[in-house]
Amino acid sequence: MKRTEIAKLLKPIETGMEVFIQGWVRTKRGNKQVAFIAVNDGSIIHNIQVVADAVAFEEVLKKVTTGACIGVSGKLVESLGQGQHVEIQAHTIEVYGTADADTYPLQKKGHSLEFLREIAHLRPRTNTFGAVLRVRHALAFAIHKYFNDHGFYYLHTPIITGSDAEGAGAMFRVTTLDAGNPPRKEDGHVDFSQDFFGKETSLTVSGQLEGELGALALGRIYTFGPTFRAENSNTPRHLAEFWMIEPEMAFYDIHDNMDLAEDFLKYLIGYALDHCADDLAFLSQMYDKELLNTLEMIRSVQFERLAYTEAIDILEKSGHTFEFPVHWGTDLQSEHERYLVEKHVGRPVILTDYPRDIKAFYMKQNDDGKTVRAMDVLFPRIGEIIGGSQREENYDALLNRIHEMGIPEKDVWWYLDTRRFGTAPHSGFGLGFERLVQFVTGMTNIRDVIPFPRTPQNAEF
Ligand code: ATP
Ligand code: MN
Repeated sequence: MKRTEIAKLLKPIETGMEVFIQGWVRTKRGNKQVAFIAVNDGSIIHNIQVVADAVAFEEVLKKVTTGACIGVSGKLVESLGQGQHVEIQAHTIEVYGTADADTYPLQKKGHSLEFLREIAHLRPRTNTFGAVLRVRHALAFAIHKYFNDHGFYYLHTPIITGSDAEGAGAMFRVTTLDAGNPPRKEDGHVDFSQDFFGKETSLTVSGQLEGELGALALGRIYTFGPTFRAENSNTPRHLAEFWMIEPEMAFYDIHDNMDLAEDFLKYLIGYALDHCADDLAFLSQMYDKELLNTLEMIRSVQFERLAYTEAIDILEKSGHTFEFPVHWGTDLQSEHERYLVEKHVGRPVILTDYPRDIKAFYMKQNDDGKTVRAMDVLFPRIGEIIGGSQREENYDALLNRIHEMGIPEKDVWWYLDTRRFGTAPHSGFGLGFERLVQFVTGMTNIRDVIPFPRTPQNAEF
């Protein structure tokens, strides 16, 4: 018989027919006559209850313990018990895999998230991680859907890069040289011309520069791939390996860029609300009673748009004591971002026109000679969720900036070429996928929204 997903059986459905399910045992209880087995197959947060004759199934029921994997065929009937409207009266039970009650780590409910991080190979079997991973999937799907529906092309930018010009963070080296005994040049430095690619290469910190090349040919593109940062930042908002969505659009100025970012985020949050109701209800009940209200609020409010200079003014006049002092020219810390969003405005904020000295070389310079056309989207709880800008499309202005910042021209000649041949005004941004999932699920630590988190000192699984 063909397996039916539990999600299908728990929808309003006719009863009385024979069904077949396969999944993992969450709990078993009962008495001498009858056993009640709660089975989950990952298709939905809820379990289905299997009712089995304890005498007829006596032998097999010994192996049906929490964590075991089973297949059950039986009759789908209306349930008289509380908490479910249907259940299965078992006709056959097959055990595919037992789970020893003395050693299975998820024997009981209510493990801490910290403990579950140590068993990341098993934590997808908990309600929390099942919910988070289903929401994560829905958001990934919605991202592709949004862009496809809006005429963007999915561009695959490289993961191994020979350019370290982006400056977004420290990079992981990619090499096949013998770490213990690398070839050396006369001056003693490692000779990377003998390395696999004939030069130094790293894991990418962003697909943006290559994304721009795509936008200046296809019009509107987006990338959605893994990015890597070797910073030693042990925060609840940073991973060493994370996924980033980077749309890049020819003929968009910073205002078009902001409009897109706002519409995109609202769409994604709305998509999760509309398609992940059960999982979000569970997460809300477990971790943040205000979660659904917050998500509904974001979907319906207008984001506040504020220039960096005004924001500094607000922060300086706030009378609030920050851990990191703030004045014009400093990069904002998440405490500042959160103050603006949560205390001052009460809605998401798009902050624009940052000092050029704290932003990357490719951002379009404003006429004041001090600021650039950057735009960061700041969210409650998370702080920065998107960083973006209008790009400098003027060849001379860009080259000047590259010289000022000491970036070797030989590293970015191909990027400069786009400004020499048919340059165009264009803009784009980067959305950190895990920050989005964090926001939507209400999880406070970014390590709990990616299946296998990579952080300093941690790559076990
Ligand atoms: P932050 O200041 O928060 O460290 P950033 O300014 O270095 O971020 P960008 O280079 O602008 O980040 O990257 C674009 C987006 O990618 C950010 O807005 C954020 O959502 C996400 N992001 C950046 N670094 C990380 C990281 N280490 N882990 C997870 N997401 C990240
Ligand atoms: Mn940023």
